[in-house]
Amino acid sequence: MARILVIGGSLGGLFVANMLQRDGHDVQVLEKVRGSMSGRGAGIVSHDVLVSALERSGLDVQATLGVAVPGRVLLDQAGTGLIKIDMPQVLTSWSRLYQILRAELPSDRYLQGVSVTRVEERDDGVQVFASVDGKETTWAADVVVACDGIRSRVRQQFFPQVQPQYGGYIAWRGVCDESLLSDFTLRTLFDYFGFSVPPDEQIIGYPVAGSENATGRGHRAYNFVWYRPVSAGEDLKSMLTDGDGVHCPQGVPPNKVAWRQLARMREDGRRLLPPQFAEILEKAPQPFFQPIFDLLSDAVSVGRIALMGDAAFVARPHIGMGVAKAAEDAVAIADAIRVHGANAAALAAYAKLRLPAGRSAVQRARWLGNYVKSSDGRAQPMAQRQHQAIYETAIDLGRYGHQSTFIENSP
Ligand SMILES: Cc1cc2nc3c(=O)[nH]c(=O)nc-3n(C[C@H](O)[C@H](O)[C@H](O)COP(=O)(O)OP(=O)(O)OC[C@H]3O[C@@H](n4cnc5c(N)ncnc54)[C@H](O)[C@@H]3O)c2cc1C
Repeated sequence: MARILVIGGSLGGLFVANMLQRDGHDVQVLEKVRGSMSGRGAGIVSHDVLVSALERSGLDVQATLGVAVPGRVLLDQAGTGLIKIDMPQVLTSWSRLYQILRAELPSDRYLQGVSVTRVEERDDGVQVFASVDGKETTWAADVVVACDGIRSRVRQQFFPQVQPQYGGYIAWRGVCDESLLSDFTLRTLFDYFGFSVPPDEQIIGYPVAGSENATGRGHRAYNFVWYRPVSAGEDLKSMLTDGDGVHCPQGVPPNKVAWRQLARMREDGRRLLPPQFAEILEKAPQPFFQPIFDLLSDAVSVGRIALMGDAAFVARPHIGMGVAKAAEDAVAIADAIRVHGANAAALAAYAKLRLPAGRSAVQRARWLGNYVKSSDGRAQPMAQRQHQAIYETAIDLGRYGHQSTFIENSP
């Protein structure tokens, strides 16, 4: 039995902690945030690898994971279905996954309010330093798995040159209760993974569980993600300024988004989007936005320390793989530790396997997101953009990858 510290208690950290705990290791998760983390995220497309990773964590939750859709529909601006395809998928949510994974881990294995400040490798293991209520505290471990997100403190310590890159656009996101929507929207969009591609933009949406993770008809919600170009510099800075005039470079908290931004977004929605999506935007209680970044690493392990999930690679959301990729990283780490033991050799084996996968995910997501920006001079014909959106976005590559026209080295 090895002593393993997991830094970051979001979905990636919970996946790896559960798997290692099941393998009999002494695991401790250190999470910076105190209190409830449920309800922080929105919809998540589930992939087969995600379901297998849940099973590997001892969880058989396929029946209650989320909301199933039979396929996809692409709407034109008038709200008419232009393309409809069969593509069954299950859509879950950040909070549902967090709830399932968190419940599986004994509570004394999940420490909150612990902000890791640095990690030091020693001859006999690793020492982790953290601030707890302003006091420095240390933990010792055989290996450390850093799953501390896109701004990873651990990555910045070892690989400061690796920084997130802004993609040139933002995503407005939100959820709207099913019970608020008109019959027209319920009939023509709600049950499907929906798409629309106004020039240089894209909106997607799908049904997810409603409050208390309810998945029954009438109690679900519709999750949307609207990608819109915003140039780096002054435009982005102004977008990232909250309703009180405070600049928030890491993102404006949902409850602080300026009302003028909200009003403009909804007005643009009425002008540019199919009426179904415009209605959803209008009725979603608290839309918020995130600038779209990606992150490409050249190394994901150093000695007895591994980076995984968003700390290692961030692919833009078009491939819908943020959580699935973290889950696959977790499986690879747990497998490598089974084979080599909790040591540097295991983490090197993990890195060898997952570096190409991370790179490929980032490239594929860049390719899918390319057309969102108007400024890159690579405007594609509308039919191609529509086809790419509906056939290639957030597909389960294991099941539907044969349809992909992605070329690995495309920009
Ligand atoms: C609030 C939120 C909402 C999200 N919503 C979606 C979504 O709707 N759809 C989707 O596909 N993906 C979403 N994601 C991303 C998705 O959850 C991640 O791709 C996936 O969870 C894998 O990320 P991760 O666990 O590696 O990192 P993250 O989810 O970013 O978690 C990193 C964790 O590390 C903690 N942490 C950071 N620094 C420290 C430190 N110094 N010490 C201790 N702990 C630290 C953070 O508090 C956080 O809990 C969301 C992520 C977050 C944080």
